[in-house]
Amino acid sequence: MSPAKEASANPVPMKERIKIPRQGMPEQAAELRVMNFTEVNLGYSMELARQEALRCLECAKPTCVDYCPVGVKVKDFVKLIVAGDYLGAAAKIREDNVLPAITGRVCPQEDHCEGFCLLHKKVDSLGIGYLERFVADYEQKAGAPPAANAAPTGKKVAIVGSGPAGLSAAGDLIQRGHQVHVFEALHEIGGVLVYGIPEFRLPKQVMREQIDTMRKMGVEFETNVVVGKTVSIDELFEEEGYDAVFIATGAGLPVFLNIPGEHLNGVYSANEFLTRINLMHAYEFPRYDEPMVGLRGKHVAVIGGGNTALDAIRSARRLGAERAYVLYRRSETEMPARAEEVKHAKQEGIDFQVLTNPVEFLDDGRGWLRAARCVRMELGEPDASGRRRPIPIAGSEFEVPLSVAIIATGTSANPLVQSTTPGLKTNKRGYIEADSESQRTSRKGVFAGGDIVTGSATVILAMGAGRRAAKAIHEYLNTGAW
Ligand SMILES: Cc1cc2nc3c(=O)[nH]c(=O)nc-3n(C[C@H](O)[C@H](O)[C@H](O)COP(=O)(O)OP(=O)(O)OC[C@H]3O[C@@H](n4cnc5c(N)ncnc54)[C@H](O)[C@@H]3O)c2cc1C
Repeated sequence: MSPAKEASANPVPMKERIKIPRQGMPEQAAELRVMNFTEVNLGYSMELARQEALRCLECAKPTCVDYCPVGVKVKDFVKLIVAGDYLGAAAKIREDNVLPAITGRVCPQEDHCEGFCLLHKKVDSLGIGYLERFVADYEQKAGAPPAANAAPTGKKVAIVGSGPAGLSAAGDLIQRGHQVHVFEALHEIGGVLVYGIPEFRLPKQVMREQIDTMRKMGVEFETNVVVGKTVSIDELFEEEGYDAVFIATGAGLPVFLNIPGEHLNGVYSANEFLTRINLMHAYEFPRYDEPMVGLRGKHVAVIGGGNTALDAIRSARRLGAERAYVLYRRSETEMPARAEEVKHAKQEGIDFQVLTNPVEFLDDGRGWLRAARCVRMELGEPDASGRRRPIPIAGSEFEVPLSVAIIATGTSANPLVQSTTPGLKTNKRGYIEADSESQRTSRKGVFAGGDIVTGSATVILAMGAGRRAAKAIHEYLNTGAW
């Protein structure tokens, strides 16, 4: 790929751009942030944003765009930053992404846009996520009105679930002129973005502002509606007059280890643990007196190595855990968590015990957790996931004294909607079967996407599915063809 020859507002000659170092993200010092839940990353200033934007090589065929699941026009919005038109840059991002302040914070850019940036072949990739966040926060502060929607079509779409898949579909559909109503089982909008990801990575206020923008665009939200219980998908069509339904219910059912002692007091699923912190406000102690505050001075471990595991253990540390461990059965190389999160966790004093697997939780004699019995592991040949298989080392067992253990080894599909919707096909793991291009399911007029189709994935992949569904729903509503 060769850099573009077209005119550019960037005053830095092409061959000089590679010499500008990637601008670091200002962050809260580790020793301070372990005592609070305020955001770790503080965001670029205008100067840092401009300096970083100047590094863009403005490739003729930008692979960063090709590898973005929602197709954000990176080169175009970065050019607008260079030109000082931050609201223009925000509008450019919003053409493809309704949640830029979210993706700018939590998207694994290293696996998408930044991983395929031409700069990455020689030096650090362009800080696309940091720039996206800068522009989104600037737009929010400026209070810019959302872009106008197309003329009303008179068609009604129901969206089940308000995580990134549902929100992304809602944003695209409302802009195409359809009436959009989002049903959410919980009392807060946002899915994992509010009940899972903690305040120090994604402040609730940022989330609320993004939702407010969607409300201004005309999206209607209804909380405390459990589709499959409060109302069925059939009733949405037959009694409430919806023309299409998009199911985006995520994969929020916790998976346990099935080892002895897992029933003990003090053993949590990461889902419950994080929900208590996020939605039951343990992070706002003493304003809210949620029982999680009992972690002070305790030894806590999380089992797992993904973003969920790190969110849980870093939250435990902030709630006063004296020792905070990650117990992970593979090595750090295989760890699925984002590299930045691993770095931040280490700075915060989290003790990574890799190649370590708990085989039993031990009772203190009164029904509470006292320790985890663990074995050391070694890595064998790659397994079906492509990662090297962990194998227990005989005779390596040892105990880790613990008061709290958090299981973060995965989740699965909640079966409620599937079991109450006749004709909706699922695969053998209980996920909804949907076409990978159109997100169409086996039921006419019903589309599905995000984690409920793929299993646990990422915010941007869920948003990509939401966009594809919105496009296909629009076509279906226009033509009636299935
Ligand atoms: C703790 C944690 C941290 C993560 N960190 C990252 C990260 O840093 N970066 C990243 O890219 N990804 C991350 N992920 C993964 C990412 O959040 C998910 O892949 C993504 O949220 C999936 O989006 P979704 O819209 O499919 O589902 P969800 O976000 O799960 O949303 C589904 C929504 O549907 C609602 N719902 C379920 N059933 C019903 C029903 N019957 N009726 C009505 N509503 C219903 C749920 O309450 C929920 O609000 C993380 C996941 C977790 C758990």
